[in-house]
Amino acid sequence: MVKQNILIVDDSEISREILVHMLDDEFTLYQAENGQQAIDILSENYKAFQLVLLDIHMPVLDGYGVLEIMKQRGWLKELPVIMISSDPGDAYKRGATDFFAKPFEEDVVLARIHNIISLYNRYYTDNVTEGLNRKGFIRKAESFLHGKKDKTGYDMMFFDIKNFKAVNELAGISNGDQVLRTFYQDLCNASFMPLLVARIEADHFVCLSRQPEEGYDFLDDICHCRYEKNGKAFLLYVQCGIYHLENKNMAISGMIDRARLAEEMHNSEYGRMYTIYNHTMKNVYIENAEISSEFMRGLEHEEFKLYYQPIMDTKTGKIASAEALIRWNHAEKGMISPGAFIPVLEKDGYVSNLDMYVVRKVREFLVNRLAEGNLTVPISVNLSRIDFYDEQMMHNILGILHEGKLPAGKMNFEITESAYAAIEEDSNVIVDEIRRCGSKILMDDFGTGYSSFGMLQDCDFDTLKLDMSFIHQIGKNPRTHSILRSVIELSHELGLTVVAEGVETSEHVSFLQQNGCDFIQGYYYSRPVEEHVFADMLDQQEKQLKM
Ligand code: C2E
Ligand code: MG
Ligand code: MG
Repeated sequence: MVKQNILIVDDSEISREILVHMLDDEFTLYQAENGQQAIDILSENYKAFQLVLLDIHMPVLDGYGVLEIMKQRGWLKELPVIMISSDPGDAYKRGATDFFAKPFEEDVVLARIHNIISLYNRYYTDNVTEGLNRKGFIRKAESFLHGKKDKTGYDMMFFDIKNFKAVNELAGISNGDQVLRTFYQDLCNASFMPLLVARIEADHFVCLSRQPEEGYDFLDDICHCRYEKNGKAFLLYVQCGIYHLENKNMAISGMIDRARLAEEMHNSEYGRMYTIYNHTMKNVYIENAEISSEFMRGLEHEEFKLYYQPIMDTKTGKIASAEALIRWNHAEKGMISPGAFIPVLEKDGYVSNLDMYVVRKVREFLVNRLAEGNLTVPISVNLSRIDFYDEQMMHNILGILHEGKLPAGKMNFEITESAYAAIEEDSNVIVDEIRRCGSKILMDDFGTGYSSFGMLQDCDFDTLKLDMSFIHQIGKNPRTHSILRSVIELSHELGLTVVAEGVETSEHVSFLQQNGCDFIQGYYYSRPVEEHVFADMLDQQEKQLKM
């Protein structure tokens, strides 16, 4: 573990030597020959020290002068001082915490030092884990790194227990505390032997450690741990952000912030449980913050535009349906594609506002065309996983489906495979209710998640959308040909229809035609287009039908 730092300030070399001899097994010792030297050392980083041993009579600046300056600068609140003197005078009044006299008695010296340090350590102890709290961690990390010229071999790690809220709800607060304690112990005893560990708030933990030579695979065990209590098992889902320390002047809190930022940027798609900080993350973070803060304004100013991409019947080549896709025509930044803002809005919980806006616009488009007696096709709206946690939103959607202005089956809903896997049982009831209203559920991006076949077995939906990553392998990879053929056949056996996404070439089209894929969506037929262009396409089709 990390040793604590003590500064010995005494003009007598012999006194300093005796103290060093008594203390250097247990502490890291720094020395100053007079008060001014002590102030110079502390000015660099007083937080790196746990205690000052201070003589009174010294040249240049005496002990009282040192106390005066420490008081003025507010250091005494966090850094205790023990006077080395048989008569400390009014040193207590001036802010000293204790004293011991020369000649030194080892027992007395050690007892006083331990008492004072443990008294101050209470400020630095977390009441749940009984380990360090945030302040304590910062102090100890400062001590450890103090004077280290090369910091590049160390890591700051930030851990977040992602499902802790669920653990607390299922297990109760006191068991929740027990889980936090156990996780803390697991970190302390982990194979990578962290130098310092702390719970800094709620379910967030930090570690300072040496960089491992063998990579970070050991984090898999830590991030997927399992606790049992009264026969109940809890699986913790933990994510970690790592900041490799650099040789620049940075406060410990800055290092924690960077590790935390890396954790927040974590993308579980890669299957790893950790993310390493890099400098572009800061820019991404700022951009994301801008997206969130400008979203509501953009929605009010109608900066969001709906595009429609036709989905063709493979046999007839006619428009069978369409997908509604959102674009942000930002006042300053121009057109932004959904890939850049949907994930951010999902994290911040705004995405449901946007999806509800899309549902309303699609409804308006369909109702208007129906009122004018024009051709309509079913249009599918993308729903995010977050939408299913928003009861009001689900209620509003069902309201629109029940109101009777849209014939059954005109508005459908796309849910990605991973979103489908994440929604809970009560949400499944809503999905069923939506289907009872005649709307179809399309499983989007099929084949990109982890649970494709489980999904086919367990979930009720109507249409499977083959992800474009498979379609783009047509003509390149014979194994993909076999997979596509089998999935199409299997879907038909299960009573599902199949849409191929991202169809770009005639080669794609003929493969899909030959293998019985029902519908085709992609640039080959049309890009997503503005509403009036899509309306023209439908009008054209209507004319041809009448001919
Ligand atoms: P998605 O639902 O899988 O939509 C298909 C994406 O593929 C669209 O990207 C579409 O423009 C693109 N695409 C269509 N044909 C082709 C092709 O032939 N080649 C290629 N390379 N791409 C093609 P887009 O519009 O950028 O949307 C990306 C994703 O953003 C969507 O993927 C969907 O998950 C999400 N999204 C879009 N609009 C909404 C929305 O209103 N609400 C929610 N929650 N998500 C949305
Ligand atoms: Mg979609
Ligand atoms: Mg898709």
